[in-house]
Amino acid sequence: MFNPKNDFQPTWQPRNQSIAHDDSFILVSRPGGDVLLPHGFTGDFPNITDPFSLPADWTPIQIGTLSGSPVFLISAPPDAPSPDGLEWSSPRPFMGGLESGRMEALCRASMLASWDYDHRFCGRCGTATLQDPAEAARCCPACGHRAYPRVSPAMIVRIVSDSQAGFDGPRILLAHNRRFSEKMYSCVAGFVESGENLERTVLREIEEEVGLTASSPRYITSQAWPFPHSLMLGFETFAHGTPVPDGDEITDAGWFSPDSMPQIPPHGTIARVLIDGWLETVV
Ligand SMILES: [Zn+2]
Repeated sequence: MFNPKNDFQPTWQPRNQSIAHDDSFILVSRPGGDVLLPHGFTGDFPNITDPFSLPADWTPIQIGTLSGSPVFLISAPPDAPSPDGLEWSSPRPFMGGLESGRMEALCRASMLASWDYDHRFCGRCGTATLQDPAEAARCCPACGHRAYPRVSPAMIVRIVSDSQAGFDGPRILLAHNRRFSEKMYSCVAGFVESGENLERTVLREIEEEVGLTASSPRYITSQAWPFPHSLMLGFETFAHGTPVPDGDEITDAGWFSPDSMPQIPPHGTIARVLIDGWLETVV
């Protein structure tokens, strides 16, 4: 998941920036993470090659460079219509195929588009805010309050059977969430509560969602997830016992052996990385 060869460099050069380079990347996003794509798009990176087809008041912000070329975000309102030849779409279907620099650029664009729109007014006094020219922040000219892009940590955990589980081979615990498609099972996951550390979140979520007590978690990897501004932190822990789904968020959970796996999340998700990582060690 983490690739040290990432060729994306985040920068911040706000509005009134002209798109001067032919080799620029232009990403158009709106709150919620949708991106603008040409009709019939079959590529893997939603770069708009003709910015002149976009409404004149959609102004670009340079948010980074990709292989040395500028990356611009055009942040559109949530009810923005589709310009001719383009359509709004979720980036989820093609995110899994992106190499890491493009993935980071797309996640940054989606997250900043949501933040930019959601902080047009000061949360303290209601005055219209301004973009800071020097750093990614929206500032209130009346009271001085500054709003920075929000990143909300969440954890996801691979729960593996321990020596007391009594199975005749390795097992992984997977759960079916009410929001999943009918047959899909995945790792337990949840948001970090205010005041918690990550280890505490992992153990609390396991207890709440499947009723088990797990060992101290070990960090594995992470993934930005721009729906709308999460950072998923992946862990592994060990447990035993019969899972008891909470019946609210989780409707079923069970221990699965490598040769009896249910439908699992698609490639490109951190859940799949965690599950595949386990399968590689036991098959
Ligand atoms: Zn204010």
